[in-house]
Amino acid sequence: MFSFLTVLLSLVMGNFVTDSYKTDSGKSLEIGFIAHGSVAFDFEGTVIYVDPAEAQAKFAGAPKADFILYTHGHGDHFDKKILAEIVKNGTVVICNEEVGQSLADYGNISVIVYQNGDSGSFGPENARFGVKAVPSHNQPANYRFHPPVKNNGYLFDFDGLKVLVAGDTEDIEELKDLKKEQVDIAFLPVNQPYTMTFEQAVNAVSMFEPKILYPYHFGPTHTQEGMKELVKMLSGYKVEVKIRPLE
Ligand code: ZN
Ligand code: ZN
Repeated sequence: MFSFLTVLLSLVMGNFVTDSYKTDSGKSLEIGFIAHGSVAFDFEGTVIYVDPAEAQAKFAGAPKADFILYTHGHGDHFDKKILAEIVKNGTVVICNEEVGQSLADYGNISVIVYQNGDSGSFGPENARFGVKAVPSHNQPANYRFHPPVKNNGYLFDFDGLKVLVAGDTEDIEELKDLKKEQVDIAFLPVNQPYTMTFEQAVNAVSMFEPKILYPYHFGPTHTQEGMKELVKMLSGYKVEVKIRPLE
């Protein structure tokens, strides 16, 4: 029975490399690492994508989306060709205003536009999860890439397991507000000038102290091998850094 369950789970997440977590009450969360800024979650059979884009081949045969969240409209985060691969009747899209406008005439999906600070809970009774949109932007010198207010990071609450997908952001002051959320798992982007330097990622970790860090969005400026330097820089901190194929 157990091995059958294992096979089933790996099929659910298609071609993606995955890590598995259990919540305190025993619900399962699979995290799929797709590419760059793209990740997927399977929470008790509910399939959720964040910024499905890039690496188009990996989406062939991928599970259809119950939910898709978009942080912003840049091409490495929002791609209508890939949306078409994973969308199904009734897929719910949560996104910023820019992406919402671009999907205004898209059939058979529900589009919910979130501003920074908006939150809600979604999913079936056995797999309810919370979503909160959090600020995601550059420091003033790089506002031309990601200005304030416009884009969202997303903080998920999977049955008490808190997961942050930060979007394209730097070590902005607002990250300090996440400390009270007690984030378990954080995806932080590491590629200047669009997102963080290693030093900024270390500073971000010190601001809200996630237990597990997945650096993501690190290509083309860094390789997986190059990320070992960030692991070293965080060795004195109470955070476990996991490097996955998220160039
Ligand atoms: Zn961007
Ligand atoms: Zn990006």
